[in-house]
Amino acid sequence: MHPIDSKLPAVGTTIFTVMSSLALEHKAINLSQGFPDFSMDPGLIGEVHRAMTDGANQYTHMNGYPLLRERIAEKVSGCYGAAVDPQTEITVTPGATYAIYTALTCVLRPGDEVIAFEPAYDSYIPNIVVNGATPVLVPLSFPDYSIDWDRVKAALTPRTRMILLNTPHNPTGTVWKESDFRALEALVEGTDILIMSDEVYEHITFDGYRHPSILGFPALRERAFACFSFGKAYHCTGWKIGYCIAPPAFTTEFRKVHQFNCFSTNTPAQVGLANYLEKTEAYLDLPAFYQRKRDFFLERMRDSRFRWLDSKGSYFVLGSYGHFSQEKDTDFAIRLTREYGVAVIPVSVFYQDGRDDKVVRFCFAKKESTLQEAAHRLISV
Ligand code: PMP
Ligand code: GLN
Repeated sequence: MHPIDSKLPAVGTTIFTVMSSLALEHKAINLSQGFPDFSMDPGLIGEVHRAMTDGANQYTHMNGYPLLRERIAEKVSGCYGAAVDPQTEITVTPGATYAIYTALTCVLRPGDEVIAFEPAYDSYIPNIVVNGATPVLVPLSFPDYSIDWDRVKAALTPRTRMILLNTPHNPTGTVWKESDFRALEALVEGTDILIMSDEVYEHITFDGYRHPSILGFPALRERAFACFSFGKAYHCTGWKIGYCIAPPAFTTEFRKVHQFNCFSTNTPAQVGLANYLEKTEAYLDLPAFYQRKRDFFLERMRDSRFRWLDSKGSYFVLGSYGHFSQEKDTDFAIRLTREYGVAVIPVSVFYQDGRDDKVVRFCFAKKESTLQEAAHRLISV
C-alpha cells in the first residue's frame, strides 16, 4: 500500500452528485442539480447525427473545429460587440468546468492568491487549492448577495494573482451590473491581476436585464479568461462542451495545458454545433423561455412558507426558510427530499466555513409539469 497524501483533504463528493443520488434513491423530483428535464432541439441532434454519418468521427483540431471557432467569434461579436480572433483567442473545451480548471492551472503557482466570492460554485476552491494557490474568500451577504467592493479592495495583497467571478451567479441568481465591471476595472488598473470570468449562464437573464460580458470591457478583457458552456445554451448539459476566450498570449498558455490533458474536444458535437450556431434565436429566446419557468414556479409557490430571493439570471432561485425553521440547511434539504419528495441544494456547501443562512437552491430548468408537481409537494412544508 502506498497511500496518497491527498492534495484535497477537505474535499468530499460534490453536492450535486450527493443530492441527485438521494433524489434517485427516494424517487424525489430533482430540483437540486442544475440540468433541464425537457428535450433539447432535435434539430441540433440531427446536425450531430449528420456529422457522424458524414464521417466527422476522428480527432479535430486541438484548438477546436475551425468553423465552430469562427461561428463562436461571430456570436460573440453579435452579442457583445467584441472582436475575437478564432485562431488565437478561442479554444473549444469539454465543458466550462474544464476550461476554468485549465485557465487556473496555466496561471497559478504556489503562494499565489485567488480572490473568489462566496457562495462559490463548488469547483472553484478545489481548483485553486490543487494548483497550490490560496483562495481568499470575499462573502456575498444574504439576502441580496451584492458585491462589497471595499471588501474586495481590502482582500488585495501583493500576492493576488487572480479574481474569479461568475455572472449570472450560481447559486444566488444575482447578476453583475455594468457598475460592477467598472468597479473591477478601477480595482485592477495598474496591477498584474488576471481575471477568470465564468459566464456559463450568459443567455439566461430576466426582467429585461442583458448580460454584459467581460469581453465588452476592453481594459478587463485584456487580462481575462472568459468561459462559456453550450450545455446551458442548448439544453444539453450532458454533452460537456464549452469554450474559453482569452487574449492570444493567455490562449497560448491555456493550450499548452489543454493539449496534454484532452488534446481535442468531441468532433461530431463541434461540427453539429458549428452548423446550428447560425440559428441565433435558439439562444436569443432563452431569457423569455426561462423567465416563464421562473415565474411559473414562483406563482405556484406563492402560498408556501418560503421567502423567495430575487433571481435575475441562471437556472436557480433561492428560497429562505429561517423564519419558520432553524434546521441546518443540509438537514433541511435532505428532509425535503425524503419527506416531501423534492430534492434541493443547501447553500451552506458553497461556503468554506459552512455559513448557514437557512437558504436552499431550487432549479427551475424543468418542464412545467415537473415544477407544478414539485410546488404541489412543497406547498405544505
Ligand atoms: N460554472 C457554473 C457556475 C456552473 O453552474 C456550471 C454548471 N455546470 C459550470 C460552470 C460548468 O459547466 P459545464 O457543464 O460546461 O462544465
Ligand atoms: N452546474 C450544475 C449545478 O450547479 C451542476 C453541474 C455538476 O453537477 N457539476 O447544479
